Amino acid sequence: MTEKTALLIIDLQEDFLPPNGSLAVANGREIINPIIDLLTPGKYKWDAIIASKDWHTPDHISFAKTHNQEPYSTKLLSSPNGSGETKLHTLWPVHCVQKSHGSEFPHEFKIVFDKLLEQQNVPTKIVLKGYLQDREYYSCFKDVWGIHKTECYQFLKDNCITNVVAVGIAYDFCVMNSCIDSADFGFKTYVIKDLTRGVYPDKDRETTLNYENHGITVITSESDVMKKWIL
Ligand SMILES: [Zn+2]
Repeated sequence: MTEKTALLIIDLQEDFLPPNGSLAVANGREIINPIIDLLTPGKYKWDAIIASKDWHTPDHISFAKTHNQEPYSTKLLSSPNGSGETKLHTLWPVHCVQKSHGSEFPHEFKIVFDKLLEQQNVPTKIVLKGYLQDREYYSCFKDVWGIHKTECYQFLKDNCITNVVAVGIAYDFCVMNSCIDSADFGFKTYVIKDLTRGVYPDKDRETTLNYENHGITVITSESDVMKKWIL
């Protein structure tokens, strides 16, 4: 089977970026220009490009404020399908509210990505997640309960993708969960670690092990395997 590779850019949004993001991940802004470089026309051999966006309602269930709790505290939340299943959730500061400044791509990335979206020389798409109020999403493929699927899987399938290469924020949350789902869906999955940043960088080793335990290949932008995708 011919290999076809998609670049997956996870949640590169103002609220996850310093200095003003409500849920800013340390040094997040450092990865913007190298990610823009991955989008240079004629430089890399991507067969599809996706940028995901966390896209919450103002009263989203994942916000501490919705429950009158402190950010980063936890709460047991029930499955939206009424099965009675519960999961312990971390509650976050309000972030990535639909159409707010915090939900936007950083300006320099947006300019480049919008052009790709318009031209469609390579199939390019924004995948929204987190827009159903009653459930948390980390993965760009589905909610944490595995009930609601985003458009991500279908877009990859429609474009006959076999490999997924992930970058973005955060290494230990949305990038990790997106990669796990990608691998579970049968895509050969890579994460370019230096083009991600984590919420808890002190737990990097554990996080990387978790990737590897799910069959995901952790690489850097200097790895030999990158040559596969350079034109
Ligand atoms: Zn979120």
